[in-house]
Amino acid sequence: MTTKLIIGHLYPDLLDLYSDRGNVMILEKRARWRGIDADVIRVDAGDDVDLRDCDLVVMGGGMDREQSLVARDLQRRRTNFEQATAEGTVVLAICGGYQLLGEYFETGAGERIPGIGLLDVYTVAGERRMVGNVMAECILDGRTETIFGYENHSGRTYLREGTEPWMRVVRGEGNNGRDGTEGARKGRVFGTYLHGPLLAKNPRLADRLLGLALERRGAEKLRALADRWEEAAREHLARRLAELEGMES
Ligand code: GLN
Repeated sequence: MTTKLIIGHLYPDLLDLYSDRGNVMILEKRARWRGIDADVIRVDAGDDVDLRDCDLVVMGGGMDREQSLVARDLQRRRTNFEQATAEGTVVLAICGGYQLLGEYFETGAGERIPGIGLLDVYTVAGERRMVGNVMAECILDGRTETIFGYENHSGRTYLREGTEPWMRVVRGEGNNGRDGTEGARKGRVFGTYLHGPLLAKNPRLADRLLGLALERRGAEKLRALADRWEEAAREHLARRLAELEGMES
């Protein structure tokens, strides 16, 4: 194995709703299948880790209580996060993690949990939780890719002017159930409401993140994988969602 890839998994115990850690496994596997030596560094609250050493950082989702616990630790990593992303580290954050990368998350109980402002978005909880399967679209290498995921959140996230959504919702609620946007992206920082785990259901999205992360290692283009099972699972999901839609209408 020649190229090396370091994945930082932040708060694996506190932020792991719907097996978000599966995203880390997918990144690790898809790198290894190409002969890339991938290492996962576990980063818990209180740990001293320089995020500049990571090519990719992954944060999952969590309940409001877990988010408050994480928020304190996250604040002291703020500058380090900014340095890392400026030096090319790619960040993927899901749901609760995504909210904490923004400016703040105001819970249903009225508590304002501060974020670290890597993304120009803010989140306010609504009365109704937004729950269910999501189908969205995202541009990958100039082509529109269908993305499958699952959402469960009270927070409505709003993008500040000039902030790019990561995806557009086809079915489901996305950021706030109103403007058709899903997630946000700023440079190498990606946030989304989609659990799933997201990357298990969307292998081309996984490769896009891997490819970006490997750029800073000067690695060549990623070799394509067969993805037979992944494609079969995606076809099944598309069929199932169409059936559900038929039942609802
Ligand atoms: N606690 C947050 C909310 O309900 C995030 C939930 C999640 O990560 N699924 O909006």
